[in-house]
Amino acid sequence: MRETFIVASNSSSIDLGLRKDRGASAYPDTWYRASAKGIVDRPRLESSLQADVCVIGGGFTGLSAALNLAELGLDVVLLEAERIGFGASGRNGGLIGSGQRKDVLETEQMFGMEQSRLLWDFAEAAKDEIRTRIEKHAIDCDLQKGQLVGVHTKRYAGWAAELSAALAARYDYPNTHALDAEATRAMVATDDFVEGFFDADAAVIHPLNYALGLARACTEAGVKIFESSRVTGYTESEPSVVSTAHGAVKARSIVLACNGYLGKLEPRVAGKIMPINNFVIATEPLGERANALIGGRFGIHDTRFVVNYFRIAEDTRLLFGGGENYRPGFPRNIEGFVKPYMLKLFPQLADVAIEYAWGGTLSVTVNRLPHIGRLPPNLYFAQGYSGHGISTASFAGKVIAEAITGSTARFDTLARLPIRRFPGGTLLRYPGMVLGMLYYGLKDRL
Ligand SMILES: Cc1cc2nc3c(=O)[nH]c(=O)nc-3n(C[C@H](O)[C@H](O)[C@H](O)COP(=O)(O)OP(=O)(O)OC[C@H]3O[C@@H](n4cnc5c(N)ncnc54)[C@H](O)[C@@H]3O)c2cc1C
Repeated sequence: MRETFIVASNSSSIDLGLRKDRGASAYPDTWYRASAKGIVDRPRLESSLQADVCVIGGGFTGLSAALNLAELGLDVVLLEAERIGFGASGRNGGLIGSGQRKDVLETEQMFGMEQSRLLWDFAEAAKDEIRTRIEKHAIDCDLQKGQLVGVHTKRYAGWAAELSAALAARYDYPNTHALDAEATRAMVATDDFVEGFFDADAAVIHPLNYALGLARACTEAGVKIFESSRVTGYTESEPSVVSTAHGAVKARSIVLACNGYLGKLEPRVAGKIMPINNFVIATEPLGERANALIGGRFGIHDTRFVVNYFRIAEDTRLLFGGGENYRPGFPRNIEGFVKPYMLKLFPQLADVAIEYAWGGTLSVTVNRLPHIGRLPPNLYFAQGYSGHGISTASFAGKVIAEAITGSTARFDTLARLPIRRFPGGTLLRYPGMVLGMLYYGLKDRL
């Protein structure tokens, strides 16, 4: 029932937040960048190397695959076109939800009870992977527990109680409860929610710091990481040769982890995902007002098709995500684009200054389930986490590492998920998608 698509902007598009550089790639100007811990400048690939595996992309998928592969004893090179965590992994809302992108009431209908339970268990393993990594590598990424889903319409009345009962009865998961309007209002000062659903074991993190911590762990495990090293192509051979403008890596296997930033690199999988731009603003620090707004450091999102997600950061500012577009390029004025979504929920913040505004690109699949698989002879890929990527990407990287080293059971289960191509493939997917988004965005407003 939860949906993450957001209505298209009619703002003119210019800035992809791509680079402001003097040679090396630079991070976009986000609050995450301003509060980052442990940014390390890594070299550009300028030679020919050999490795067991070449990972393309330095977000959660690529970092998780690289780290797990190195721990399994493989020699790994990771190539990142820009900076570690430069893509969605360093720009997102930081909300780590339980389960898959679709809740269990939906996956039971789609796949039956047994498969639904398997997918739930994978998602629990994904949360474990993140918690374990944070603890094992002492990653300072402000992990906070808890997530509230605010139900924005009476049409969904009863959903929270039904989901909570299903999780307790059929998934051995007693960590959620439904809230009435008053109890929800006591947690978050908005009149927008008619009910709530609280998950005490979901979580929220500073995503860029998590990515930077994973990169440090990769280096400690022996992974060779190169930044500003965009892959321009690779051979379909065993081994493969992966090329950048200034170097090459000969590797037995490739992990393709570019997700919404894939572009034209791999046409065989590009048609199964739709890149979508999503936007976030950060207010000035709210001080005492933060406590009055949200009664804790848990994450919150609503049930709109055009989802709003928000939380209080460690320095008391509100981070608020809302608004999307479906074309290459971001709105010229991201603050002006996102702020109305925030003020609809929190009109009391009209006087508050916005200090950061940024966008990022994720990718979605037709049915919102992840697209994971292998292309012969030796290329593994994972993408299309549909707004639920912090945990799913981390898990995807791990199961790819398992598959490359011969344990294929969990990888095969995920690779069997039915992911259709977008009608029209990469050429025509946009018009149909935008029409769909406009329709559902309109339903939100009605
Ligand atoms: C604004 C926003 C908010 C979000 N909020 C949430 C949230 O709250 N919770 C949640 O679970 N998910 C959220 N998501 C989704 C989540 O961030 C992503 O699903 C996840 O980070 C994907 O990780 P990834 O490693 O697959 O891709 P990315 O992090 O996008 O990494 C891909 C990397 O590949 C690199 N690359 C691309 N092409 C090449 C090439 N040719 N050579 C070398 N490198 C290349 C890119 O530079 C990039 O760094 C959000 C996404 C966005 C954009």
